[in-house]
Amino acid sequence: MAKKLYSCLICGYKGLSENPLYKGEYQKTFDICPCCDFEFGYSEDHDVRLGFIVTPDHLIEAAFQLYRKQWIESGMKIAHPEYIPDEVKNGDCLKFEVLLKQLKNLNLDIDNFEIDGFN
Ligand SMILES: [Zn+2]
Repeated sequence: MAKKLYSCLICGYKGLSENPLYKGEYQKTFDICPCCDFEFGYSEDHDVRLGFIVTPDHLIEAAFQLYRKQWIESGMKIAHPEYIPDEVKNGDCLKFEVLLKQLKNLNLDIDNFEIDGFN
């Protein structure tokens, strides 16, 4: 039986073994997205610079958006391509149309993105 996988809150790729949301609340699972490499419980504090040692809860979404921006602008490189199906890849990177679809599934307002490549 295939294991249930959960969507990454950053890139939308469905490759997490634990749900980073529990009853709508963010939880630090220390699961790493095979696509964008975000580690839930680590990256929001260490891989973005918001000016805090530990990102306060009300800024977690901002940390997600900043990481997302950094990842997209640096070329959407797939962290663990061995876990990602070929049809969504463009070399080492995620296909842009696949990214759009994944972000749409997260209900993000991509018209309001200030990210290179989106406007
Ligand atoms: Zn991801």
